[in-house]
Formats: sequence, structure tokens, C-alpha cells
Amino acid sequence: MKAEIITIGSEIMLGQTLDTNSAYLGRRLASIGLEPTYQTSVGDNKKILSGVIKGALERSDVVITTGGLGPTVDDVTKEVVANVLKRELILNKHILSQIKARFQKRRLRMPKRGRHQAFLPEGATVLDNREGTAPGFIVEHNKAVLISLPGPPRELKPMFEDKVFPYLKKKFGTRVTKTRLLNVVGLTESAVDEKLGDISKREGNLEVGLIAHPTGVQIRITAGGPVGNEESINELISQAENGFRERLGDYIFGVDEETLEKVVGVLLSLRRKSIAVAESCTGGLISHRLTNVQGSSNYFLDCVVAYTNQAKIDILKVRRETLNRFGAVSARVAQEMAEGIRKISGATLGLAVTGIAGPGGATQKKPVGLVYLALVSDDTNLTEEHHFSGSRETVKLKASQAALDLVRKYLLKE
Ligand code: ATP
Repeated sequence: MKAEIITIGSEIMLGQTLDTNSAYLGRRLASIGLEPTYQTSVGDNKKILSGVIKGALERSDVVITTGGLGPTVDDVTKEVVANVLKRELILNKHILSQIKARFQKRRLRMPKRGRHQAFLPEGATVLDNREGTAPGFIVEHNKAVLISLPGPPRELKPMFEDKVFPYLKKKFGTRVTKTRLLNVVGLTESAVDEKLGDISKREGNLEVGLIAHPTGVQIRITAGGPVGNEESINELISQAENGFRERLGDYIFGVDEETLEKVVGVLLSLRRKSIAVAESCTGGLISHRLTNVQGSSNYFLDCVVAYTNQAKIDILKVRRETLNRFGAVSARVAQEMAEGIRKISGATLGLAVTGIAGPGGATQKKPVGLVYLALVSDDTNLTEEHHFSGSRETVKLKASQAALDLVRKYLLKE
């Protein structure tokens, strides 16, 4: 079965929006044995879009469009689809009342063209949009199926997962593909590759790949087979996972969507510890990440961004003498910052970071990317020195990851 994806929007053509919808949909379609054979991006142009949709319906079994479903004049998808399929656009009262309710809830007046979104091609199955106002729809046409989804990924993904994926799986699914990601921190891609050695070169039904990020590496384990073989596929993946865990141990901090801040949060809760953070070069990023986790108020007590020397002295009570002797970017200052924030907040753990994010500010002895971390508690006094590469933002991100990992490693031993 052939599948085809058409992403619609002039912003994609102009390079203002990166088309991530095709990558996401391609991955999901392939996972049920639908072969993605064509991907096209088109601007908001009725004539060109019309030709692309006609061609797609002739050569593919499933055609998915994304974008152009909104209320503005440049949103042309529905009109073109209706035209190509020779169907009327009909007002759907249920959708209209949903759109009205959405505006009322936000105390906003519904614009005149808001109504426009409640018109759908005759005979279409409506796909509710729980993240926005533009509904999607499925139309079966001869032997093909055309599915139109909204452009914003945060609207498209839940709609696809809740409604479209089960529909396609039931109608066309012949194969199952499952993927598990193992999230690694503290090792480079080549170090992971070296540690895994020959066991990463699996063949047959199993595929293993490494994905490098500034903050770590993901090991992707994929296995597939005909529908009905889910159990043996899961078993194959679990066996591979166990092998990788044996080689990498605690360098693996989580699976799939699990973030390091989430894992740290779980460990802090399990160990009944609280944390407070003093940040310099990361500018609040560590605290931001920790507080992105639901329930973080149970263990996250306080944070201070002490950027200047004076702020470090005034707020965190770092000694002027330490600053003069070792410099602001030093293990000793990081330690005093961590002690300072721990004292102010009364947290079990005080975490601090100081470093040079660049591109300026380096000296001969202290290059860009030099970062010191400190973690203190009643019975702990840990410091780490790191040398990160990359842009200012990348150094900040890497420093925040290393700081969270320092906390994780400490909590794993507790
Ligand atoms: P809405 O009315 O909710 O915006 P829509 O279907 O009209 O939905 P568009 O106006 O086409 O969506 O796109 C809205 C935004 O969605 C774009 O500005 C862009 O940020 C994002 N977007 C659109 N297409 C893609 C794509 N292929 N990949 C990633 N993001 C996209």
C-alpha cells in the first residue's frame, strides 16, 4: 500500500517553517507497513495544489495533507479538496458550536471567517481538534483515502495518534514496527559506539542506530514483522535493550520520551530530598528544566541567577577573597555558590554552576566552554570540571545537562 504526504503552506516554501510533519508522518505510516512513496510541499496556491492532489490520488492508496485548514484567506486546502473530489462544502453544525464555545471560553469574539472552519467536504468524517479550532477530516474516494490534517504539529500529532493511526492500522495495516529509544548521557557518540562494539551490529529483523544530540546520545532499537507478531517483536527489542544496558550501565538514564529532569525529579521524590540551584552561566536554564516537570514543587525549593561577582557576594555570600584568588569560574566559587543557595533555601541539596558560555570572556587559562559544577549536602561536597564546545546556547545546554546528571549520579548512589 502506497502512502503520500503533501505539506501545504507558503511559509514552508519560503524556508520560514521547517517541514517536520512529513518526517513524523512518514515514520508513523511506515510503522504499520504503509510505504511512504512521495512527499510534496506546496505553497498556498489553489491551481498547483489541485494538480498535486489529483496526481497523488491517482498513484497512492493513502494521501495525507497537512496545513491550510485555518480560517484565513490563504487557507485553501478544503476548497481545493472539495473541488478535486467534486463534492460540496457543507456546514457542520456540531463543529460550529465547538468553535463558538472555544472562543467563548477564552472571552474572545469569534471572527467572521471563524465560521469558515466548520465547512467540510460532503461525506467527510470529521476529526476533532483538541488543541485548536481547525478540524481535520477523512474522505474515502474510489479506492483511495484522503486525510487532511492541520499544520501545527501540536494540533496534528494528537489528531493523528487518536483517530487517524487506528483508522489506517485497521484498514491497511499489514506490518508492525516498534521502536525503543535508550537515552544516554555523559558519553559521546563514538564512545557509545565503542562500548557497544559488535552487539550494535545486529542483523535480521532488528535495526540499531545512534542519534547524537548536544546533550547526549540516543540508541534507537527498531524491530518489525507481520501483524500478530507483536510479542516476539517486543521480546527481540527487550533482549537487545538488556545487552546494551549490560555494556552501558548507568550511562542510560531513561527510555523513549523520558527526560533527564524528569528522572532527576523521580529520584529526588524517591529519596525524599529537596534541591535549590544557584546559576551563573546557565542563566536559569537548570531551574527552568527542573520546573518543567509536573509536581516539581515537591522537591524544588529555590533558585538564584547570580551573574555578576557582586550578586554572588551579596546574595549567595560567596567570599570576595575566594573570587579574587580563584576567579568567578572556578571549582571553589561553584562550591560556595552551592553552599550559599543551600543555606538560603534550607534544601537538602545545593547545586551550582559557573562557567564561560562564550563567545567572549575567555582567558588563556580559562577557555570558552570551561564550566564548574558543584553539588553539596550535609555529607557531600562534589565538584566537576567540564570543557564544552559549541555556541553560547549549546554550552549552556550542555552545562545544564551535566549539572542534572551530577545530581542523578549522586542520587543513584544514595
Ligand atoms: P491553524 O489554523 O490551526 O493554524 P492550519 O492547518 O491552517 O491550522 P497552517 O496555517 O498551514 O495550519 O500552519 C500553521 C503553522 O503550523 C505554521 O505557521 C507552522 O508553524 C506550522 N506548520 C505548518 N505546516 C508545517 C509542517 N509541514 N511542519 C511543521 N510545522 C508546520
